Amino acid sequence: MAEMMKAVVSYAPYDNRYEDYPKPVIGEGEILLKVKGCGICAGDVKAYHGGIRIWGTSEADRYIEAPCIGGHEFYGEVVELGAGVTEYEIGDLLVSEQIVPCNECEYCKKGIYWMCTRSAVFGFKQYANGGFAEYIRLDKNCINHRVPKEFTPEQSVLIEPIACGMHAVERAQIQHSDVVVIAGLGAIGTSMVNIASLYLPKMVIGIDVRENRLEMGKKYGADVVLNPMTCNVAEEIKKLTGGLGCDVYIEASGSPKSVTQGMDSLKNLGRYVQMGVFAEEVKADWNTIGDGKELTIIGSHLSGLTYDSVINGIKSGEIKTEGLISHKFKLEDWEEAFKTTESPNAMKIMLEP
Ligand SMILES: [Zn+2]
Ligand SMILES: [Zn+2]
Repeated sequence: MAEMMKAVVSYAPYDNRYEDYPKPVIGEGEILLKVKGCGICAGDVKAYHGGIRIWGTSEADRYIEAPCIGGHEFYGEVVELGAGVTEYEIGDLLVSEQIVPCNECEYCKKGIYWMCTRSAVFGFKQYANGGFAEYIRLDKNCINHRVPKEFTPEQSVLIEPIACGMHAVERAQIQHSDVVVIAGLGAIGTSMVNIASLYLPKMVIGIDVRENRLEMGKKYGADVVLNPMTCNVAEEIKKLTGGLGCDVYIEASGSPKSVTQGMDSLKNLGRYVQMGVFAEEVKADWNTIGDGKELTIIGSHLSGLTYDSVINGIKSGEIKTEGLISHKFKLEDWEEAFKTTESPNAMKIMLEP
């Protein structure tokens, strides 16, 4: 009989079960972590709600390999080391990057592992079961980082989402003369305000529809915050920039309206970065990109090569984390935790086994 552990297992849309699941058995080069905490990503909630990007329209285009254990924003303690693992010791606290690279595709070979064609993010594949569990197996290809012992559970769980935010900010190639807009001030967007401010641009503007998030944006370094429910954001940005518009617009809300708002707010030659994930198709006038403003449209996926800087930044205090985790739940209360992600005062929510 296999040893068992508790886990939240995704079977189908609206069918997650907190149940006994075989405790992972590790092989050569692998590591067994005792999970200490795991954040809930918008992607985990979308998976639960049957998101089409995850479940597809049929078996053929399905991304998730159910039944599997969700959660990619985890950290934990090393409790077992496979043969050949020499860089870590029992008791080390580790975070593992959210993707398990194949190390064989063209991207992996070039070191651009976050674009790996196998695209195995923890929590969506059976061979990459996630952190909504008591234990997790780290594959030999995993990219692991030590979590400083002094980090709080909240800080440890925030490493992954902040790393994704840092990648999006890096993609924008901010100049000191830039007016930078971050649209969507969830935990990642708020952290992006913080990180963008560290580049010392001319101005950072935060946008959200919730007043409590705008307050957070200010605390995290936004010079100006705007609420699209109470003003015309593009007009306000033009007023703040001598009629020109912003240089950079980083979309982190996943709301289709934010896309057209961004294209309206950007100045000629502006840079638009897409970081948020949409539940539906987006309609926009593409003439703004070419014939109108000669915009640069930039994508941002996962967190390539940013974990070390995030960990150093949290350690030095330059990257702030206070208030980004709004709620904590026990793993068995996952359902209440998932529901709470929709509450107006929610930021990031974490589970603890
Ligand atoms: Zn995530
Ligand atoms: Zn690969």
